[in-house]
Amino acid sequence: MAATPARIVMKFGGTSMAGIERIRNVANRVKREVDAGNQVAVVVSAMAGETDRLVNFCREASSLYDPKEYDVVVSAGEQVTSGLLAIALQAIGVPARSWLGWQLPIHTSDAHASARIEEIDTAALDRALSSGQVAVIPGFQGVADSADGEQGRVTTLGRGGSDTSAVAVAAAMKADRCDIYTDVDGVYTTDPRIVPRARKLKKVTYEEMLELASVGAKVLQTRSVGLAMKENVRVQVLSSFTGDDAPMADTLPGTMIVGEEEIDDMERQLITGIAHDKNEAKITLTNVSDTPGSVAAIFAPLAKANINVDMIIQNIAHQSAGRAGSTDVTFTVPAVDLARSIQALNEAKESIGFEELVHDTRVAKISVVGVGMKSHAGVASKMFTTLGERGINIQAISTSEIKVSVLIHEDETELAVRVLHTAYGLDAEEAAA
Ligand code: ADP
Ligand code: ASP
Ligand code: MG
Repeated sequence: MAATPARIVMKFGGTSMAGIERIRNVANRVKREVDAGNQVAVVVSAMAGETDRLVNFCREASSLYDPKEYDVVVSAGEQVTSGLLAIALQAIGVPARSWLGWQLPIHTSDAHASARIEEIDTAALDRALSSGQVAVIPGFQGVADSADGEQGRVTTLGRGGSDTSAVAVAAAMKADRCDIYTDVDGVYTTDPRIVPRARKLKKVTYEEMLELASVGAKVLQTRSVGLAMKENVRVQVLSSFTGDDAPMADTLPGTMIVGEEEIDDMERQLITGIAHDKNEAKITLTNVSDTPGSVAAIFAPLAKANINVDMIIQNIAHQSAGRAGSTDVTFTVPAVDLARSIQALNEAKESIGFEELVHDTRVAKISVVGVGMKSHAGVASKMFTTLGERGINIQAISTSEIKVSVLIHEDETELAVRVLHTAYGLDAEEAAA
């Protein structure tokens, strides 16, 4: 028995829900928490690969699909797994029912395919949990009334959004903890699939996890971390691939995401983690005139098209006698937005006044993250030296208070992550099992 019964949210990702056998294993995990006296709400993802399959159906049906209907299609994967988990729980004697996004309801904005959760009605949830029933909630989905007067349309939260659903449910029902079960047993110093010597972290601060997630550590969706930080939700990342003898979640076997005050000086590292992201594309505009307003002319049409520009570098101007100099401007955009970016820039070619547009999708962004950077110099310099020694060329750089990112050739991603992991002293003695 747990010392004090708690109200918990358990979230299971796609690989944990991939097939009936795994769903039965999830049901057993949930039963252990119920048997320990806890009130449990479960948030589930679609089976691994299912959302991709549904997205592709939409693309096949029409390249210009209606985002509202896209959401109807892609939210279906979670409807299936939530019903199946409720069945599997009932089969082992645990009272359970599913609550779809529109049934609770989970109100969101009407930004289809990337909606934000605005409010969750907890009345039905409270009643279910208090009566000893497990509530199974599909992640990733909600319902919105749109600005154009349409009511009750299904929405989705953006890829990986079930993490955010789980944190939002935990915040709304004032849960004691939100346990995110996945296919790794915690947050590591870098993706353990790339660096077998990555080390598992016992604790990570919200701030660092937010930064790590936003630069490519997809173990948690970025928005879920921002929400947990804002609402003070205690989040743990842990493995669902364990047997009945696994330690209970309240012994905190995974990684806890915590406030900075919960990390003592002994545990503080200069660098917490390294992440990579292959989903950016690089654009260079050549011979842009080096005059006030020319950079604004480039980024205004991109902003208008709702495209987020990430890294930016402006090269030294080439001065020619008697005329204003010209310069090359390089920046990155999400690879999925490349075609739209090229279109927006070409349409504005005359007002920007560039000569050529060159683009490259074979790039990767490598980032080192750590709050220790705020007070220690030399982190960026070590990164550049380490990459230089391996002959890895840096194409662009960007920094924040707790992060340094560089853009390199995609083929060098794994090598760069590995050598940096070693250089910052993050390697574990032994490779993870
Ligand atoms: P789920 O389907 O459970 O949501 P995801 O595939 O979204 O799981 O996230 C888990 C994956 O995140 C792991 O399999 C791992 O490869 C990847 N990952 C990337 N960076 C890290 C990191 N720093 N620590 C742990 N896992 C990471
Ligand atoms: N099924 C959705 C996706 O694949 C949401 C999630 O799994 O978090 O993006
Ligand atoms: Mg995920």
